[in-house]
Amino acid sequence: MPELPEVETVCRALNNSLPGKTIVDVTVENPQLRNLIDSDYLKECCINTKIISLRRRAKYIIADLDNGKALLLHLGMTGKFRICSETEAVKKHEHVLFQLDTNESWRYEDPRRFGILKAVTLPVEGGIPEDLEHFGPEPLEDEFTPQYLKKFAQNKTKPIKNLIMDNTCVVGVGNIYASESLFRAGISPLKPAGKISLKKLTVLVEKIQEVLEEAIKAGGTTISDFSTPDGNEGYFFRELAVYGRHNEGCLTCGSPISKVVMAGRSTFYCKKCQR
Ligand SMILES: [Zn+2]
Repeated sequence: MPELPEVETVCRALNNSLPGKTIVDVTVENPQLRNLIDSDYLKECCINTKIISLRRRAKYIIADLDNGKALLLHLGMTGKFRICSETEAVKKHEHVLFQLDTNESWRYEDPRRFGILKAVTLPVEGGIPEDLEHFGPEPLEDEFTPQYLKKFAQNKTKPIKNLIMDNTCVVGVGNIYASESLFRAGISPLKPAGKISLKKLTVLVEKIQEVLEEAIKAGGTTISDFSTPDGNEGYFFRELAVYGRHNEGCLTCGSPISKVVMAGRSTFYCKKCQR
């Protein structure tokens, strides 16, 4: 499933190609993604509009159009974009095709159809669509500070791992990245969030940012055609220190890595190094 680093990488790649191009037509081959696409509304919003730029918020990509509308895009489990010549044959799972004024076609492919593609009106130019208003800060932006996290965690008995994976606290810290950041910070994933000192949370914020930045860097060098391999949990996989390493030796102390299930998600940690 594409996580924040992969979505960021896809967004950057699209942002290198699409701005300045005009959508001249839209074909919806199959409207049933996670939600049913309103094809008429999509066409009404997009046709004859120029794409200004693309930006990411949480795991969504927002494509700003020059008419005050935007396309809200989410890759779901298996979503991919590609930009190709308009004459290329449509692939089996390519559900939406945006015809561009450059004789190119910008296509959305999604075998499992869990993605989201919809046209939205922005409250103000460059603003955040209503659908995304409830999200907490971006982990790589200035508002995500140790002080903010300390305040959010105050009096909370919820385990720290579940807290940092809660989108209202901070967005985009997926399961793998949560385990890896906590390992680097030396904090047990099970520790009640409200009991962690500001000093420890300062390290955690730093490690979350470090892990995500490394993953973005890795994704950025892997993706050349905007696609994310199906079923791959991320390009960062090869460099994981704890995730998926149950019973293998901890890279720091050699003790076997423990596994627990938290909020339905597999969690890996070293009982000795993480307290
Ligand atoms: Zn250890």
